[in-house]
Amino acid sequence: MTTTLPAVDRAQLIATRRDLHQHPELGFEETRTSTLAAERLRSLGYDVKSGVGKTGVVALRAGTTSDQTRCVLLRADMDALPVEEANDVPYRSRHPGKMHACGHDGHVAIGLEVARRLAAVRFGGAVKLAFQPAEEVSHGAQAMIADGVLDGPKVGAAFGIHLWNDLPVGTIGVMPGPVMASVDEFEITILGRGGHAAAPHQTVDPVLVAAHVVTALQSLVSRRRDPLEEGVVSVTQVSAGHAFNVIPGRADLRGTVRTFGGKFWDDAPQLVENTTQGIASAFGATAEIRYHRLCAPLVNDEGMAALMAEVAAQVVGKGGVKAGVRTMGGEDMSYFLQKVPGCFAFVGSAPKKGKASPHHSPTFDIDEESLVIGAELLSQVAVRYLGA
Ligand SMILES: [Zn+2]
Ligand SMILES: [Zn+2]
Repeated sequence: MTTTLPAVDRAQLIATRRDLHQHPELGFEETRTSTLAAERLRSLGYDVKSGVGKTGVVALRAGTTSDQTRCVLLRADMDALPVEEANDVPYRSRHPGKMHACGHDGHVAIGLEVARRLAAVRFGGAVKLAFQPAEEVSHGAQAMIADGVLDGPKVGAAFGIHLWNDLPVGTIGVMPGPVMASVDEFEITILGRGGHAAAPHQTVDPVLVAAHVVTALQSLVSRRRDPLEEGVVSVTQVSAGHAFNVIPGRADLRGTVRTFGGKFWDDAPQLVENTTQGIASAFGATAEIRYHRLCAPLVNDEGMAALMAEVAAQVVGKGGVKAGVRTMGGEDMSYFLQKVPGCFAFVGSAPKKGKASPHHSPTFDIDEESLVIGAELLSQVAVRYLGA
């Protein structure tokens, strides 16, 4: 055993990613992926537990020196999306209607390559790798935490990455503080009284109430939020009625609230409730509101972000490290970072020349050089944290 990491095995890294890309599995159905990960990790000498958070896998390697106090957790999410792949590539998805359209195939491949490299190095403390299910549906991280992934040994710091098509390959986005948003979902049912379109005075029109509610919800961001706090309210689904000459009895709305935490996040459920109820009652209708918190904001620890930025500069050069990369998208790595300090970085995966397709689109693909950069970044972050 040495203290220097073996070189990244580029060919195997790409082969693993392409194999996973051909076999996408949706949240909590990642049985092939987790079996593949568990077998590889076992053969590398890790102590492997399957079924952590339903389909999750945890691999542990105790330190090889006397320092057993530090434990670093590296997290990779495994799930795909219900998207039909439109790419014409040899490693195209073999499962109709399912696709790795967010890059999680790359995250698993990177996690396994990091595991291989770290298994060959002597260091203090312990390494824990968490292969997490169901990121896209926001319940996988919580399921793994409930099953004890952060205990035995207790995790001191957690790190993760997302391959990121908004950044060109060769760049890494990393900064302290909140970088991904909280995700809340609301569903509103407005109950009126249906009737003839030509006699609206005999009805309570839920379509008109819904229109006012959609407009009023926009005032939450413009008039109820401190302008110095980030926030988005989007109504994304509206449904009511079935005929041009009938006023329906009910209208349904759905949407999302995004924040980086703070007072607006605290207040949002009550603001949505009060605004909707107030408008409905002004029109003589009633409303039912169901409000769900799906994901907490993802907040990077200052010290851990500084550590990761330093390592990133070694990997891609100072000019390649980008501060200020943030998104109102959600990411359930936030639940790990609520419990332990850590950092989540964006690894550029768009081709240097030309445009990349956005995440979750049927033509999503990555520049595979980003896999090498991601593997280098996470391996070296672990080594640096553990003080090897
Ligand atoms: Zn995604
Ligand atoms: Zn993702």
